Amino acid sequence: MNEEKQQQLFKEFPVLFRKRNDVIDKKSPYWPIQTGIHCGEGWFEIIHDMCTKLQRLNELENPAEPCKIFQIKEKFGTMSFYTHHASEIQRDVIRAGEMRTCTTCEECGKNAYLRKSKMWIHTLCTEHAKASGYKLEDWET
Ligand SMILES: [Zn+2]
Repeated sequence: MNEEKQQQLFKEFPVLFRKRNDVIDKKSPYWPIQTGIHCGEGWFEIIHDMCTKLQRLNELENPAEPCKIFQIKEKFGTMSFYTHHASEIQRDVIRAGEMRTCTTCEECGKNAYLRKSKMWIHTLCTEHAKASGYKLEDWET
């Protein structure tokens, strides 16, 4: 994800990304998020929506030990979103957000399908699947 979008999230949700500005230390459980958010801009709105809900739940449920994010990345074509101290409702928010990435283009946010080639698996709209060299479904051509 581009630096500008990441900075927007880090500024807007300082508790969720509290460990973001620490020095990268691979012994810290938070080091993956210190290297950034590793997915395309098409999922920005989904992440923003998840963070809004997680932050609100932190305030309501667990201000003393809030949920904090340690990794967000694309994995096998969809988003994996990892936290520490998530409550049961927060885990539901995370699962629902991850599910939305199964049908949302990672590049642009449009309606999309999971695409498979010999080498790769990605969730992409028709336009971005074509641009990335995936074979389109019959109904798309
Ligand atoms: Zn797209």
